[in-house]
Amino acid sequence: MFVEPETMLFNVSALLTGSVGDEIKFHFADETLEIDDLLFRDVEARGKLMRTDRTVFADLKVKAAVDAECSRCLVETDTRISIDFTEEFRPINTDLMQGHRNWFDEYGTYENDEALTIDSTNLLDISTALWQGLSAAMPMNPLCDPNCKGLCAGCSADLNTATCKCHADRPAALNLLQ
Ligand SMILES: [Zn+2]
Ligand SMILES: [Zn+2]
Repeated sequence: MFVEPETMLFNVSALLTGSVGDEIKFHFADETLEIDDLLFRDVEARGKLMRTDRTVFADLKVKAAVDAECSRCLVETDTRISIDFTEEFRPINTDLMQGHRNWFDEYGTYENDEALTIDSTNLLDISTALWQGLSAAMPMNPLCDPNCKGLCAGCSADLNTATCKCHADRPAALNLLQ
């Protein structure tokens, strides 16, 4: 099976009623993911959804772009993120998976359950979980360039594009007067 969804919604009825190991392979690109004002652009994912004994396991390579502030010069910079995304999605309709244990009976519910729950119409929405995975992979100290010179601690000049004004602000003549 190979599908190219227009969105990040998958109907996994066939997987849930199928056999352990059944897969849906897919690839999408140029998608956008935005939650809480954090927007990922050019989201590309390639991989599969696979039926386990009681879940649907997602195994994807994901790439995205995000605007992040350079930690040295504070300029908004286009940052690329690549992650290996693996998550288990738990179906509400466990009766479809005959003879298998119910995830919720065994493990109860967690705070992040909603992002990893396959709804009662057997739709698996990977968008929230993908966004969470990308958010967790945001670099702690993004750089516009590995050689970014940053801002001068004295005059705040962007040393990549401007010259430090610390000395110009305090001419020799002024120093003599003080
Ligand atoms: Zn920078
Ligand atoms: Zn300076």
